[in-house]
Amino acid sequence: MKPLKLLFVFLFLPLIVFADNQPWQVFKSTHFLIFYKSAKESQLNELALRAEDYYNKITDDLGFNRFNFWTWDNRAKIYLFDNQQEYMKATGVPHWTAGQAQVNSKLIQTFITAKGFLDNVLPHEMAHIIFREMVGFNNPGIPLWLEEGVASYQEQKNYFVKANLANKIKQGNFINLDSLSKLEVASLKADDEVGLFYAESYSLVKYLVVVFGKDKFVLFCQNLRDRKNLTRALVLTYSFKGLADFEDSWKKYILK
Ligand SMILES: [Zn+2]
Repeated sequence: MKPLKLLFVFLFLPLIVFADNQPWQVFKSTHFLIFYKSAKESQLNELALRAEDYYNKITDDLGFNRFNFWTWDNRAKIYLFDNQQEYMKATGVPHWTAGQAQVNSKLIQTFITAKGFLDNVLPHEMAHIIFREMVGFNNPGIPLWLEEGVASYQEQKNYFVKANLANKIKQGNFINLDSLSKLEVASLKADDEVGLFYAESYSLVKYLVVVFGKDKFVLFCQNLRDRKNLTRALVLTYSFKGLADFEDSWKKYILK
C-alpha cells in the first residue's frame, strides 16, 4: 500500500500546484480586457459581445454623456475564475454572490459556471460601475438599495414577483425605506432577507423608471450627482414631498 500511496502523492501534487498557479491569459475587446484560465474561446467571444452591448445600453439608459471611454489603457477588466471556490477564495465575498464589481477600478470578478452570468451578473456588475461613473464615486448620497436597484434593473431575466412583494407589504413583513436606506451588505445574512432586500431595491427603481419615464430617471441621476443627497434629488425630480411620501406612493403602486 505504501508505494502506491507515495506514487499517488507524487503524481497528483504537481498537478494541483499547477492548477493553482496557472497564469491568467488575456482576451481583448474594444472596451474590455477579459482575464481567464480555462474558459473556451467561444465563451470568451460571447462574453465580449454581450459586454460590448451592455456598455452601450446601460450608458444610454442612465443618460450618461461620456467623456472617458473605456478604451485602450482605460478598458474595464473582467476576471473569469474557473469555479466558485477560486472566485470566493480570491474575493472573500459571501456564497450568494455570483459576481462582484470593484467600481473604482472598473473590475468585475465572476466564475465560468456562475448562474445567469451573461444575462444577469454581467449587466448587473457593469451597471454598478457605470452608475457610479455617472453619479460620482465618492457620493455619500447613494444608499445601497439604490445602487443595487439600478444594477438589478439591468438584469435581463429577473425573478422578482410583484405579488410576493405585495403580500409582504400587506403583512407588514417588509423592510421600510428608512431601514432599507441604512442597510449595508455585511448586515445581510439570511437568504430570505437578501432576497427581500434585492426585491425591494429592484422594485423601487422599476417604479421610478416605469411610472415616471426614463428621461426623469436620467434627471434624477443628474440631481443625485449634483446635490449628493437622495431626498433632495427625489424632491427636485419628482413631486414627492420626501422619503416617506416616496415610500407611500411606491407601496400604492405595488398594492394596486
Ligand atoms: Zn450588486
